[in-house]
Amino acid sequence: MVAGECNCGAVQFEIDADLSGVYVCHCSICRRSTGSNGIAVVVVPNERFRWVRGQELIATWKKPGADWQTWFCSVCGSPVPGDNDASRKFVPAGSITRGGDALKVIHHIWVGSKAVWDEIGDAGKQHAEAFRGSPLEMGASWSE
Ligand SMILES: [Zn+2]
Ligand SMILES: [Zn+2]
Repeated sequence: MVAGECNCGAVQFEIDADLSGVYVCHCSICRRSTGSNGIAVVVVPNERFRWVRGQELIATWKKPGADWQTWFCSVCGSPVPGDNDASRKFVPAGSITRGGDALKVIHHIWVGSKAVWDEIGDAGKQHAEAFRGSPLEMGASWSE
């Protein structure tokens, strides 16, 4: 089983699955959202995911004009899991505290617009844009 939480611990979740693949989005929206080189996530089916506590403390923000939305703890501001699509959640990889030992980066998206100081050094496959080549930045949607 996989467990995770935000920085203050108010929001906690569990996943009944062995996770292995991490997706990293390097787009400018994810960069501003995290203040870093992007965001690393894992994608899990809704039925394998459950909230342990704090779901009522989660705030969300959707960027106008873009297919992009973020979910975060309203107490500490940490990114927390959100809706990838109707059937799957995305989980910020950095919020996983237990059960993530096999995690490895398998895909990088929006590499074509990554920060100049962002050097990718792992074996993950690099994609210039999103998988489907959407003209929009798709920070919240990972699918092949
Ligand atoms: Zn928190
Ligand atoms: Zn992004």
